[in-house]
Amino acid sequence: MFNENINIEEINPLFNEIKKLYRQYFEYSIKRKWLEVPADIQYREIGYGYLKKVDDRNIVFNNEMDYKKWVLKKSPFHLYKSLTYTELPEKKGGASQKRLIKREIAFDIDVHMTKRCTHKDEGWICEHCLEEAKNQTHILIDEFLIPDFGLSPKDLRIVFSGNRGYHIYLNPTDEEIKNTIEHWSRYQRRYFIEYILGKNLNLNIVGSGWRRRILKQFKEKTPKLGTKQFEKNPNWKAIIDKKSNANKIMDRINYTKNRLELDEKVMEDDIRLLRTIGSLHGYTGFMVKEIKYHSLEVFNPLNHAVFSKFHKKYEKYYVVKINQKLDDLTINGETYNHKNTEIPPSYLLFLFGHNIDMEVKNIQ
Ligand SMILES: [Zn+2]
Repeated sequence: MFNENINIEEINPLFNEIKKLYRQYFEYSIKRKWLEVPADIQYREIGYGYLKKVDDRNIVFNNEMDYKKWVLKKSPFHLYKSLTYTELPEKKGGASQKRLIKREIAFDIDVHMTKRCTHKDEGWICEHCLEEAKNQTHILIDEFLIPDFGLSPKDLRIVFSGNRGYHIYLNPTDEEIKNTIEHWSRYQRRYFIEYILGKNLNLNIVGSGWRRRILKQFKEKTPKLGTKQFEKNPNWKAIIDKKSNANKIMDRINYTKNRLELDEKVMEDDIRLLRTIGSLHGYTGFMVKEIKYHSLEVFNPLNHAVFSKFHKKYEKYYVVKINQKLDDLTINGETYNHKNTEIPPSYLLFLFGHNIDMEVKNIQ
């Protein structure tokens, strides 16, 4: 845990400078109302961290103003709220200590490096892994949430996580549906995500949603597999067993099932924290930013999740000596690596968040 008695600002001028940048961002974020104020804030738990993701949690505010003041004062590098509403959010422990009232339903898509990635470091990001994260967001929304659950884009909040992922909140405009799903038990949430991950897919009787999804894959990717019979007969197992290319068919089915990298705990855990919308991600310095469904296609985090004031030419820059070899990172169309000696705040935040060995010469 981060010890409040040690004043890390005094011993580390770089930390102090980074905190100033976070503060500058939060001032703006609060003024522009980007910063999420969790609904019914007195029932929500707040958590935050600097060098670790979570230094402290179980923090509670009675009103919006106290919360915003605290965010400004702390200017945390990682900021979270509980998905759960509880009677005693300040209590340490699980749902039984905190007394669970209800819980938001959200998905966390968090992708790994892809084959096309241009970096060697698994912690780095590039347009390809970011594109994959967006692609998975589209699959979740367009192939599951809309057709299988009757939701529309209006019922969803799509948020870029600030790193290699997206958070998709279910926020149905129909109050009754919202109320029902927010009172789902842990077991019901588990069942929901297992359906989406195809974990309970039974090939003896394939339901309409999964039939539609897999048939689409057959048609688009492997039209020569001879899968016409699957359209009429839900007992796929009986058909597959008679096929000579059963392995290829099973490969395609498994591929279709495994397209999403979802963090199951974000759906299941009763007391799960999720990154606050409108904060910055402490590893990248990028904004945790809400995106409208219709803008998702053109959204490019390496441009649009960069706080513009941290990337203005000639406005503010740092003179640095970077002491380790780095993969390229392209921010707003400009590519940076260890060879750069003058860098904007946006890149400094990314390097600091990745714990890069460097000297910053123009800070006191
Ligand atoms: Zn990548």
